[in-house]
Amino acid sequence: MIDKTEHLKKKIREMEERDETWELLRLNGPTGPHTMVEGSEIIMFASNNYLNLANDPRLKRAAMEAIEKYGWGAGSDWSIAGYMDLQEKLHKKIAEFKGTEAGLAFQTGLSTNVGTIPQIVGKGDVVLSDEFNHGSIIDGIRLSKTERVIYMHLDMGDLEDKLKQVHGKYPNILIITDGVFSMDGDIAPMDEVQKLADEYGAMTYVDDAHGEGVLGEGYGIGAEFHVEDKIDFQMGTFSKALGSGGGMLAGDAETMEYVRNTARTWLLSAAYPPAVTAANLKVLEIVEKEPERVKRLWDNRDYFKKGLDSMGFDTGHSQTPIVPVIVGDTKKAKELSRTLFKKGIFVLPIVYPMVPRGTERIRNQLNADHTKDDLDKVLNAYEKTGKELGII
Ligand code: PMP
Repeated sequence: MIDKTEHLKKKIREMEERDETWELLRLNGPTGPHTMVEGSEIIMFASNNYLNLANDPRLKRAAMEAIEKYGWGAGSDWSIAGYMDLQEKLHKKIAEFKGTEAGLAFQTGLSTNVGTIPQIVGKGDVVLSDEFNHGSIIDGIRLSKTERVIYMHLDMGDLEDKLKQVHGKYPNILIITDGVFSMDGDIAPMDEVQKLADEYGAMTYVDDAHGEGVLGEGYGIGAEFHVEDKIDFQMGTFSKALGSGGGMLAGDAETMEYVRNTARTWLLSAAYPPAVTAANLKVLEIVEKEPERVKRLWDNRDYFKKGLDSMGFDTGHSQTPIVPVIVGDTKKAKELSRTLFKKGIFVLPIVYPMVPRGTERIRNQLNADHTKDDLDKVLNAYEKTGKELGII
């Protein structure tokens, strides 16, 4: 019999030969600055849990209380019969946190982008998109059938040139960018993006997945650049510094009402369990009340990056607690991460297609509760292994 999926099997075998497949490592407990992986304790350097909130007892308590009161499942989509009063509170809290009129929760960050973008631009419109935007933005744009113009990464001159080219030719223009770029840890200058957008009559959409809890004293990129009331669409996720799960969107009330009534991922997908809603509400309160967490994260990041830089590693353009070590070769990146793993450090190799070939790297992610001992241990391991592999 003919194997009709043989072409797919061939592709995965080729990927395996190029060492481009994902190895899955099993965690045997909660994620934190230290974590049990495959039965041994390691320092976690590959998690988005920047503020160490993923295992916070207050989130667990909020979730358990919600289970007692609301049960486990929501029973339906939010749009139909799964919209509990707790969810309405979360929408209001998102708006307050983001400094906007209205907020919306989605099941995931990815579903926020994929569901929202095709509803706010369509055939005949144009999107200007940073060349390194996240895959969920790229898929959202594809679904919209909008014309896509790529501008060079963070290049405001190029963005302006492209705005000039499209200005007056399309009914609607959307500029879309990650706030913090997840592979390089650099930051979009949202004040400049917004200024250009206002000058050329374009809407703005920012993906703040790695900015919430990190930039703007925890409030994200809008607060960092004082443009929270100007950005049309502030997208985010609870799945990273906020230690939970679920996407979010913030903007003016009527626009959010429009998105809620049109985005298929909101309309046609079941609500997440109320326990998640309760934890998400609680975590926004915690971030507001504990700015010292954000400060600890940045202190750790500064110490660690300085250490790597002084050893001669290439940390690219990192401006945030995402600090890459660029080695420029898949096998070397994987070997470096495997060696560090053996030394009790969990780091993530990032290879093609997630980054362009020749820029393969390790992505280090700092945690507010890494101790100085942890950081020194990781730096020492980098120095030794980097020398062994001829990276430094
Ligand atoms: N945008 C960016 C920039 C991300 O890094 C991610 C997470 N990988 C997402 C969106 C998707 O968010 P979520 O994990 O909540 O689906």
